[in-house]
Amino acid sequence: MDNQSVSKALLNIYHRLMARYEPQYWWPAEEPFEIIVGAILTQSAAWRNVEKAITNLKAARALSPEALRCLSLSEVAALIHPCGYYNAKALKLKSLASWLGKYYDDNLNKLFICNTDHLRRQLLSIYGIGQETTDSIILYAAHKPVFVIDAYTRRIINRIGLAPASNSYIAYQALFMDNLPTDTELFNEYHALLVCLAKDVCRNRPLCQQCGLNSICHFYEMVE
Ligand code: SF4
Repeated sequence: MDNQSVSKALLNIYHRLMARYEPQYWWPAEEPFEIIVGAILTQSAAWRNVEKAITNLKAARALSPEALRCLSLSEVAALIHPCGYYNAKALKLKSLASWLGKYYDDNLNKLFICNTDHLRRQLLSIYGIGQETTDSIILYAAHKPVFVIDAYTRRIINRIGLAPASNSYIAYQALFMDNLPTDTELFNEYHALLVCLAKDVCRNRPLCQQCGLNSICHFYEMVE
């Protein structure tokens, strides 16, 4: 498929999803540091459990880099217990808090003023922050246009028949970023809508009859 056709297909998917699910207005958080913490806690966790962990952090007045530095690893782990992998995630939060204090005086504006490539490299250098978490932070906390790739996105794109030649994160990201307008709001809503679709109908066992994309989906074409 040429670039123009891919672009048309991606926009078609977006408009169908928007008509079906309406804008999602992500990320559900009160301020950027909460988004960063949420992006780490949501690794391999259901969002409802992340919310419980964030509620605990807020109740303990621990939702700031300085407060996280003051708490011990086991204290942070106890607060974020509901979201699973709490010891590993506590270490990630402590590492993030140390890094933000050491290099940016806990000032996210100083961090987010960096250009996107530099910001991405900076975030990837923090312990426990991988590509998906980094891009979630860049898109939803720093409001810069990068496309977030997660397992839901890969599953949907593969089933529809738009999978890139390579299975790498960067290849999936390039599929969107090379074929869509560079637009933060578009990337924000598109990712959120793909998550909606995956949870609603494009599950492990898909409910294709109920899916608004079935008329353009290769998987559905094959099983019908
Ligand atoms: S038609 Fe089925 S496989 Fe295709 S996107 Fe919809 S739910 Fe997923």
